[in-house]
Amino acid sequence: MKDVTKEYTNGEVTIVWQNKLCTHSANCVRGLPGVFKPKEQPWIQTENATTEQLVEQVKKCPSGALTYFMNIK
Ligand code: SF4
Repeated sequence: MKDVTKEYTNGEVTIVWQNKLCTHSANCVRGLPGVFKPKEQPWIQTENATTEQLVEQVKKCPSGALTYFMNIK
């Protein structure tokens, strides 16, 4: 698979996903099933949780595939 880095933002926080690091543990899918939807496009739907929920879930990614940064207003 090609190395892909993708960004998903809700305007406040941006989630960065690196596919080569993802071990498909599905922690994210179990934690926030309304946001992380591997079968859909885009597969991360940031509008379906609060910024705080998104950040907390990203921190639980065991592989480091998910990171985030806060957007500067
Ligand atoms: S929690 Fe991290 S490693 Fe697991 S499926 Fe989600 S992005 Fe991939």
